[in-house]
Amino acid sequence: MDMIDIIRTKRDGAALSTGQISWVIDAYTHERVAEEQMAALAMAIFLQGMERREIVDWTNAMIDSGVRMRWEASVDKHSTGGVGDKVTLPLGPLVAAHGVFVPQLSGRGLGHTGGTLDKLESIPGWRADLNAREMREAPGGFVAAATADLAPADRRLYALRDVTGTVDSIPLIASSIMSKKIAEGTDALVLDVKVGSGAFMTRLEDARELARTMVELGQDAGVRSCALITDMSTPLGRTVGNALEVREAVEVLSGGGPADVVELTLALAREMLRLAGVDADPAVALRDGRAMDAWRAMIRHQGGDPDTTLPRARHTQDVLAERDGYVIGLDALEVGVASWRLGAGRSRKEDPVQAGAGLEIHAPVGTPVRRGQRLLTLHTDTPERFGRALEVLHPVIGDTPPTPRTLIHEKIG
Ligand code: URA
Repeated sequence: MDMIDIIRTKRDGAALSTGQISWVIDAYTHERVAEEQMAALAMAIFLQGMERREIVDWTNAMIDSGVRMRWEASVDKHSTGGVGDKVTLPLGPLVAAHGVFVPQLSGRGLGHTGGTLDKLESIPGWRADLNAREMREAPGGFVAAATADLAPADRRLYALRDVTGTVDSIPLIASSIMSKKIAEGTDALVLDVKVGSGAFMTRLEDARELARTMVELGQDAGVRSCALITDMSTPLGRTVGNALEVREAVEVLSGGGPADVVELTLALAREMLRLAGVDADPAVALRDGRAMDAWRAMIRHQGGDPDTTLPRARHTQDVLAERDGYVIGLDALEVGVASWRLGAGRSRKEDPVQAGAGLEIHAPVGTPVRRGQRLLTLHTDTPERFGRALEVLHPVIGDTPPTPRTLIHEKIG
């Protein structure tokens, strides 16, 4: 095979054969294809797209580049990433409380969306690096760092896409996510595909195509799969940032928490339980403390103390309303970037994150406010970051209330 021919084929809009795809992925994984050639192919795929058969072949080749795990009677959830999206934290224990195993292999955050591992690592002592025995012995489930041998082709390709402007391509996102999820080996998978300014997909029709592509890849691989398309035009809940989000997740597990986080947690839990064949209303386990018991056991199993005091940033600064009215806009991307600039996120994967950094949202979209009222509180250990975070934040106040938010747009599969 010749890499230049393969690049030219895709550049000119033709489909790659199954043989070409398995050769490219294998050669790239074993460093027999140069980074600049793979970058050119990723850009050609970004511009020309892929047929369904090519996406299936690409996904299978990435799965075959590493190991496959297997978990009996299990279900997982994957979100395409959003701002303030802490739903994984209460959702895993909530579903585990119904006797279904929830093994979650997750990543760290890059850019403006936070990573689940970064959030949980704000709990002192909590460890993401579980070995196979610790995963098997987990009480109800776990959240662990994906190991380097799970879809290693995707690991290299994702890093390359990140620096070549080729992340937001539907075939590349779908195959990247689903190769890891299929290799992880759960029986069932619920996808939370975000749409809006803070998501990869800003248009509903693109989110729908991404959701359909991923659900079909899962079902073809024998993983019972469905997707919810959910709003990410404004942050989820009242907090953004690692420890701040853990605090809010614990409120949800205690039967409280913001209505949108509770609604999405329950909607995803219902789908996970349905795919797992369990007929139960998950709202009951949130109310009666079973989900909280499962959380405490899971946190302890991974070295954390569920009763610990979470870290707080050393400095805070408020953003006040400049006039009377209603909050009609609080853009998810702006808030995500502000949180990142405050120290909650990283630019390079080796950067440290601040556990306490982020934002509290006192007045989400729809809230009536008076001039001088607190809209947001910014948190950081490094106050010189306030200026850059404030530059990006533009909450909008209008005279009339906005139309209520539709949190869950549709279900696919
Ligand atoms: N998450 C992934 O794992 N891969 C992508 O391509 C995008 C988001």
